This record gives sequence, structure tokens and C-alpha cells, in this order.
Amino acid sequence: MRLDVRAYARPFKTPLQTHHGSWSVRRGLILRLESEAGISWGEVVPIAAFGTESYASALAFCQALPEQITRTEIQQVPATHPACQFGLEAAWETAQRSPLAPLKEGGNRTECGASLCSEVPLFKGDLGGSLPASILLPTGKAALNSPLLFSNQPRTYKWKIGVAPIQQELAVFEELVGLLPAGAKLRLDANGGLSWQNACSWLQLCDGYGIEFLEQPLPPDELALMLKLSQRYSTPIALDESVTSLAQLKACHAQGWRGLYVTKAPLAGSPVALREFCQAQALDLVWSSVFETNVARQYIENCLIKALPAVDRAVGFGIDHWFTDGWERYSPEQIWQRLNPMESLQHEAGAIGAFGIDH
Ligand SMILES: [Mg+2]
Repeated sequence: MRLDVRAYARPFKTPLQTHHGSWSVRRGLILRLESEAGISWGEVVPIAAFGTESYASALAFCQALPEQITRTEIQQVPATHPACQFGLEAAWETAQRSPLAPLKEGGNRTECGASLCSEVPLFKGDLGGSLPASILLPTGKAALNSPLLFSNQPRTYKWKIGVAPIQQELAVFEELVGLLPAGAKLRLDANGGLSWQNACSWLQLCDGYGIEFLEQPLPPDELALMLKLSQRYSTPIALDESVTSLAQLKACHAQGWRGLYVTKAPLAGSPVALREFCQAQALDLVWSSVFETNVARQYIENCLIKALPAVDRAVGFGIDHWFTDGWERYSPEQIWQRLNPMESLQHEAGAIGAFGIDH
């Protein structure tokens, strides 16, 4: 199959503040596989702060792949490049199972018409997707003024904590809970940024408010302490940074974690192996975004989420309001047409490597 790669850079409307720091541009790669049967798509969306390869390293890896790629070469992507594993395997698997976008006579590309893109429903913006999505609020006090709060529909919101001093955050939290629409759910995400003491303070307060769950209170190497927290408080705890890769997810499961698992499929490595493990174990999963485009999201929804038993939990895909480019309305082919061919990116790859723009 013929492989083509194009890179994108999507600036956030305002930089996203997390315990890992400030993030202003989401960079990723779109993969296009073409065979006689048609076209399929994959997406490489690393987050180095979560332990995947860096964007620069994913770009260099994909640029070095042969133009004609085989199944064996795709299966041999090293574990050091989980985001590349995800993108390539997703594109390959889609090529095997879907009616693909046809090629025009003479091998030219065609707009993705009555093919993969119409078969797979597009997400219609952050609030109208085919799965209920949680809405990521701005970090800190800015959440209190977010227009997203003023809704009469019950929604699931997510708010980042572990960024400002705890007393300040606890006060904003209590104000935020008071502003939530009736029936709304709130989940908190500490990105591993709390101490034991602060995690206890948060959970004690959360228990009184019926918070949906607290995500990754402590750093990934403190699983034993998080197990203790999960026994001590009633607010459920979700592992996120602890279970980025499938290997980590399996390790936490083996060590007895039976709480929630946040699954960022594009960072986990082989999606086929991820699906097999999740099917074999009845895991309580929360699917979460890594600010990917519809390319990865369609694959996750159709080939991963729908392959597992349905759960009554919003998926963490409510992130489109963080961008202003309108890409949430585009099919993979439409995104592809907006990107420059790879040859013109050689120079940019060097620049990204030098600046280390990553998150
Ligand atoms: Mg998280």
C-alpha cells in the first residue's frame, strides 16, 4: 500500500494550562494509505509529557518509512513509538474492514463521498457528537465565567486541578459546584500533581459533593498510595498518566487496580492489542481525547468504543471549542486537502526538534 504523510499544527484558542505546564499548539500527522481498493486514514498524535515519542521523533520516524508499506513493516513499529503504532495500525485496520473511498480513474484522489466518510458519522462539533462528551472547562478561576456552564442540558464537565495553591483551588471548586446546571456531573483531573495530603483534602471535599471521579491524583509511580486512597474515600479515582501505554495498563490491572481507567487510545500503542485486552477484562473505561482530529476520533469511536460493551459515561472528547479552525466539521479527506505535502516540511522538522515544541 502507498503511504503518504502530512503534518498539521493547530493553535489552541488560548493555551491549555495543566500541571504539566502550558500548551499552545497541537501538532500531529495524518497518514493516508492508498491501495487498489481505495483510501484509508490514520493519525499520529503524540504527547511526550505522557511518555510517548515526541512530535519531532514521530515526524522523523514517519518520514523515514517506505512509500510502499507492508503489513509486516507496520507491525514492526517499535514500542518506543506508540503514537506511530496507533496511527499506522488504525489506517491498516480501516483499510481491511471498510468500504474505502474509491480512486478516480487513473489513480487520482477523490473527495471522500459515498465511502468511509459517509458510512462513519462525523462528530458534529463538541456538543453534538454521536456519543455524550465531557466538556473541558478552562483551568482555574476562568472556569467560573465559562459560557459552557450556562446550559439547561445536563452535561459532564471536566476541570483541571493541581495547578494553583490548594486553598485557592478548593475555594474556586466550591464556587464552581454551585454554578453547575442541575443534573450536571463534574470530574476533576490533577494530572498527577497532588501530594498525599492534598489528595486527601480534595477527596474529602469531593465525597460531600458527589463528584463523578478524580483523575490521577498522584504521580504514576505512586500506585500503591492511589489504591489506598480508593479504599479510603467514596469518590472514584481514575488512572490516566499511570496507564498511558497498554503495557502500563496491564501492569496496573495486574497490581489490583479495579477503579477507572482513562484511555487515550492514540497514545497507547497498538489499538488492536488494546481492544483485545479491554474485551478480555471487564475494565471500567473512560475514553479521553488527546486533541486529535476526526481522523483518530472516527477510528476510536467505530473500531474501539463500539467493539466494547456500552457504559453510561461521557467520553472525554468535548474539546472542539479549544480550537477555532472548524476542523471538527471536516472529513479526513477535507483535512488532508488543507495540509501541505511532506517535502515542504523538511525544514520545519529541524526547527521543531530545536525548539522542542511538545507536550
Ligand atoms: Mg487526565
